[in-house]
Amino acid sequence: MKLGAVAERLGVSAERLERMVGRIVRSSDWPLPPLLRFDKAVSGIEAGTVVFDEDEIVSGYPKIRRAMMLSPAIKRHFPDGVLVEEKMNGHNVRVVMVGGRVIALTRGGFICPYSTEVAKDQINPRIFEDHPDIVLCGEMVGPKNPYVPKDVYDAEAMDFYLFDVSRKGKRDMEGSATARLLAEEYGIRSVRLFGEFGAEEATEEIKEMVKELGRRGREGVVIKDPANLKSPIKYTSSQSNCRDLEFAFRYYNDYGQDFFFSRVVREGFQAAEWAEGDEEFLDRCLRLGRSMLSPMRETVEAKIAGEDIVQEVEILVKDLQTAKDFEEHFRRMGVRATFDPPRPSPGGHLVKIKRLVMSTNDKTSSVIEGQLW
Ligand code: ATP
Repeated sequence: MKLGAVAERLGVSAERLERMVGRIVRSSDWPLPPLLRFDKAVSGIEAGTVVFDEDEIVSGYPKIRRAMMLSPAIKRHFPDGVLVEEKMNGHNVRVVMVGGRVIALTRGGFICPYSTEVAKDQINPRIFEDHPDIVLCGEMVGPKNPYVPKDVYDAEAMDFYLFDVSRKGKRDMEGSATARLLAEEYGIRSVRLFGEFGAEEATEEIKEMVKELGRRGREGVVIKDPANLKSPIKYTSSQSNCRDLEFAFRYYNDYGQDFFFSRVVREGFQAAEWAEGDEEFLDRCLRLGRSMLSPMRETVEAKIAGEDIVQEVEILVKDLQTAKDFEEHFRRMGVRATFDPPRPSPGGHLVKIKRLVMSTNDKTSSVIEGQLW
């Protein structure tokens, strides 16, 4: 790879890029093709940006900021109206074709062998032949998603849903309308579009949508500019928020404290904005309290009973090599996990994975043995 040419395309000096390699820019030659990955954002380059060579740069997917209160956020950011899409809860991938092969990059810029297998299987390859520079941005969702397993979607294992497109060498997203046209043309699944709304009606409409999505175990919405001139904003349901807490409190010492705090704060703003009556408010209190306390109690009880606390996930692979590669991928990402031998299953091979949550195990053991906090 010619670092000078890459630096020029990225708008930094060659010396600066050279200094970054090995620090915030990591190089990887597994799985192929070889690449450079930006671990952090720097000089206007998004985190997760991946460089294959000077003509094959895939920009990181930009951060989506969160509305804490719908009405003021919409008035301030989208006074001319909004387009509302479902926010699907899985992991972000950018699917591209490089050197003739289709690959799926995670948000952090790793090639994920499992997501790649799913992308190859589900995305019509003609789109890459017709548009060699296209970057398909989408969410991988389903019960066999090893990063974010969710069984609320109509997916057997893990499905790809397109929400935006970009081009190699470009930072901008082309927007929902372009993505939807391409999805239709090439028969690619895309996220649900709820419609376009004027700024006045949007708050009430979104509130009802998010309540309904919450009841169905779904995450929430992404609010976008119909003309794609402004950055999108996300807004999520209380149930999704509480389910995150329920999951995280089971492994309470392995999550950063901000994960918990930010979610409690969201509940406060939503309860205030929705001016809930006593009954609804009590439901929220119970949901929130229970989502934190019951998993924690179960974790402590399990440890007292002598059990290890593990996070169990599953993948369903078509090719046994994908399972081997995924194991190596987890190892390289620094995830400690044990993989059961693959079992034949309809649609491929099922592999159970147990992620070790060391910190929660150690902390809980020490406390039940009488150590002080
Ligand atoms: P960030 O806030 O930095 O974007 P995060 O990890 O906190 O990242 P989320 O809270 O999951 O992310 O929200 C942003 C993510 O939502 C996007 O990166 C994308 O993967 C996902 N997403 C799901 N559905 C959509 C959609 N319809 N439009 C855009 N993004 C979507």
